[in-house]
Amino acid sequence: MSLEDAFITIFRQIASGFWSAIWFLVGLLGCIALVLVIISLLRLSKRRTQIALERRRREKLEITLDGAPLPPLARGLCDNCHEFFDKIYFLPAGSKLCPTCYRALHAT
Ligand SMILES: [Zn+2]
Repeated sequence: MSLEDAFITIFRQIASGFWSAIWFLVGLLGCIALVLVIISLLRLSKRRTQIALERRRREKLEITLDGAPLPPLARGLCDNCHEFFDKIYFLPAGSKLCPTCYRALHAT
């Protein structure tokens, strides 16, 4: 083996080590990216669960999104659409509205 062959062998070993190091880094970065994607997806689903729980809590407490209490509920006839419902809001002003009409009138 000549000196030149020895240099070529050493260079090849360094080069193959370099490429394996590059592939190791690529794999490592891929794993980190995968973990970050999984963490962000988990955070997103947690946030959605919190929003759904908050909405359910508000519905249970019967308060609007503004925080104002909803008027008392009872079975009755809606003054707006003139249909019978199991749940009718009895407004302090004296009118009676079904949940659909109530939301439609109070959304604006
Ligand atoms: Zn109605």
